[in-house]
Amino acid sequence: MSKNGKQVAENTRGKTAGRATATLRGIPASPGIVIGPAFLFGDILGEVETRRIQPSDVNAEIARMDDAVELVKKELTSDAERISSELGDSEAAIFLIHAMILEDVKVLGAIHDKIRTDLVNAESAVAAEMKRMSSVFMESDDSYLRDRSYDITDIGKRVIERMLGVWAHCPLTHPMVVVANELRASDTVSMDKGRVLGFVTEHGGREAHAAILSRALGVPAVVGVPSITGLVISGDMIIVDGNTGEIFVNPSRELLERYSTEQEKEAVAWAALTPFVEKSTRMSDGVRVKLMANISSVEEARDAAGVNVDGVGLFRTEMLFMAEGIGITENEQYEVYRAVAEIMGDRPVTIRTLDIGGDKFVGPENPFHEHNPHLGYRSIRISLDNLEFFEKQMRAILRAGLHGNVRILWPMISCVDELRAAKSCLEGAKRTLVESGVAFREDVPVGAMIEIPSAVMVADRLAAESDFMSIGTNDLVQYTLAVDRGNVQIDHLYRPHDPAVLALIRRTVDAGLAANVPVAVCGEMAGTASYVSLLLGLGVREISVATSRVLRVRRSVCETDSSEARGLAERVISAATVAEAGEILGIQSPGDR
Ligand code: PEP
Ligand code: MG
Repeated sequence: MSKNGKQVAENTRGKTAGRATATLRGIPASPGIVIGPAFLFGDILGEVETRRIQPSDVNAEIARMDDAVELVKKELTSDAERISSELGDSEAAIFLIHAMILEDVKVLGAIHDKIRTDLVNAESAVAAEMKRMSSVFMESDDSYLRDRSYDITDIGKRVIERMLGVWAHCPLTHPMVVVANELRASDTVSMDKGRVLGFVTEHGGREAHAAILSRALGVPAVVGVPSITGLVISGDMIIVDGNTGEIFVNPSRELLERYSTEQEKEAVAWAALTPFVEKSTRMSDGVRVKLMANISSVEEARDAAGVNVDGVGLFRTEMLFMAEGIGITENEQYEVYRAVAEIMGDRPVTIRTLDIGGDKFVGPENPFHEHNPHLGYRSIRISLDNLEFFEKQMRAILRAGLHGNVRILWPMISCVDELRAAKSCLEGAKRTLVESGVAFREDVPVGAMIEIPSAVMVADRLAAESDFMSIGTNDLVQYTLAVDRGNVQIDHLYRPHDPAVLALIRRTVDAGLAANVPVAVCGEMAGTASYVSLLLGLGVREISVATSRVLRVRRSVCETDSSEARGLAERVISAATVAEAGEILGIQSPGDR
């Protein structure tokens, strides 16, 4: 069974003595309650490990640091050039100041000396020197110099990240609640997921990737918590209530007792779901519904198999690229896809080709420097622009097809032209496999993600040329309502039950039915209890959700009667206002979802 229900930190002592208590509120993004020590993500200077080195290692350590410094200097210079052309020289100046600090022989010399005399690793020497310099600047009476203290900290972090070969360092030494300003998908790659008790972020919306990850891990998350990173230090005890969005920092004994009792109740509720592991997913009047899992790794596929899903409805391959780099080989990809296919046996494994851009990048930040990345160089547009790379991924999937029931899903399809272009690349991939005599499965089914309104409007034509379709509500809601899925300021406007969104879902389902092409819903909406009956009422018969949601969704399906669901959907989709639609569903505030 997936990790959820009672989540108690093994180490709940933390460093709370004498620390201020605080109660904060944000947007609940993943349900559950957790009590545990906080880990302040991004505080790399405070977290690097100090290792003793041998005198014979000194030169290598210094060289490692110098290489990282050179790399950061190059990055800063190119940042400065870009910002200067986009916004002007004054905005670019800060990057040049940072680069100048890294030119300073005194600064570099002090770090070299530290490595040499203290015999410590380079990261630790950089952290110590940058912290020392930062506190000197901080004590100045001059506000300009005090502000420079943040620059020093920033540069130190960047150099250390490059030395560690990670974009963001998250050394969880034991189970902890990760507290961050914002978590990008690439930030989470290096985390030891087994030690993440929960997430709390200052920014990022409910459908941003950190929130999706928390649901995949089955841990509580609250997003949009103002000032949390300024209040919390690593080691503070923290209660995260992912049901209400409340956060308690260094809580009183009474609160701790109250929430421990709540956790026990949750554990009981979680245990009540156990019978649903073996149950077939059928509505109360017997209508069968396919319940599949959204995964992003082989481990998640194993967890999903443990709750008897009907297959993988969405394998997000981005994490694979983020972990291994964009240069991951065809064979390396093939091994991963094959492993997932073997775990699922004859159940479908829907492998989505790389869907980067928007808020997901294989690297520290958006390399394309776009003003509007969700509408920019993203997803299938990148794949169709890099045919060799695209074909490589499809060759790996076609080869894995010999070991199970794999399907190819193309993301962000906006028109039939793109579907045809992707198909033509698939034919190219097949040709190269034939030419090199490599075995593969010829008839791998292909499908389009329906997540852009224009795709919905031509869903009949997309269905005519696809084997299946999958509705990505996370993006469909953002593109239909013009509401950034990751912007916490407008989270209250991100409403999947908006009748306009529902009309698009119904139109897609109807197009699938008419063409006899199965349509699944794989966005987060499908895993949200208050929307399950609604989707079933709209005619959806295939659902793909995070593994931690599978049992709850199966129970919701089993409790739903198909004709009642139809009636409910009819009333909601005919509502004049979003508020009215929400009222019919019992949703008063975004938190109720
Ligand atoms: C979606 O958009 O609903 C979806 C499933 O894809 P992602 O969240 O990865 O963009
Ligand atoms: Mg999407």
